[in-house]
Amino acid sequence: MVPIMKLLFIILLTVPRGIFYQQKDPYESARERMVSSQIVARGISDQETLRAMRKVPRHLFVPVSYAEEAYSDRPLPIGYNQTISQPVVVAYMTELVKPAKGKNALEIGTGSGYQAAVLAEIVDTVYTIEIVPELAKEAAARLKILGYDNVVTKYGDGYKGWPEHGPFDIIIVTAAADHIPQPLKDQLADGGRLVMPVGNPATVQYLILLTKKKGKITEQQLEPVWFVPLKRLK
Ligand code: SAH
Repeated sequence: MVPIMKLLFIILLTVPRGIFYQQKDPYESARERMVSSQIVARGISDQETLRAMRKVPRHLFVPVSYAEEAYSDRPLPIGYNQTISQPVVVAYMTELVKPAKGKNALEIGTGSGYQAAVLAEIVDTVYTIEIVPELAKEAAARLKILGYDNVVTKYGDGYKGWPEHGPFDIIIVTAAADHIPQPLKDQLADGGRLVMPVGNPATVQYLILLTKKKGKITEQQLEPVWFVPLKRLK
């Protein structure tokens, strides 16, 4: 090959392909299918929740070895004996707390940061606490890289909430216990909604929805679910 042709050939081989065509998220259609077949099909209809579920790149919240399964209808391991919830459970809990612009949210159990990102697509600010230091660090880095500047992360025991930033319009607890921590009830704003799996952490739990109106708390028992246990720092 003439040297100039050879050089051109090498240049063509080495320039990133993105220069020639708009790069598309390879998981976009998997995500769309997840929303229609797992979430809309099961009755989730809040448009903001569906928009967020269509947008957040769930495959970037699971270990690389699980990326191909990120949009399947099940929870997945994220290390340290913890799991990222099944997509429909994330969507259901998100819809239950009625997220909207102008609201703030507290999440206990950051895990991968996925639920926090879904909320952050809708509400103003998400405060999220994680008790496993490695997961807290990984999630904070991931959320930063993905541009979720409205998520504030912290390592620690979420049992006591985060009083400095309360009261919260929304509180989501993504780990199970046999009762709802009193500090979280106290940090729920008037008109606010709290959702948490409550029951025997080793067997079955039910999602409980608390609503606070004029200081009075009402409790509703919803679907059976399975979550990892809420731990306590000694
Ligand atoms: N919401 C997460 C999944 C949560 S799994 C996601 O979207 O990926 C439950 C998480 O709660 C685990 O990471 C676990 O370490 C954490 N956790 C358990 N007890 C906790 C506590 N007392 N305070 C904060 N986080 C806790």
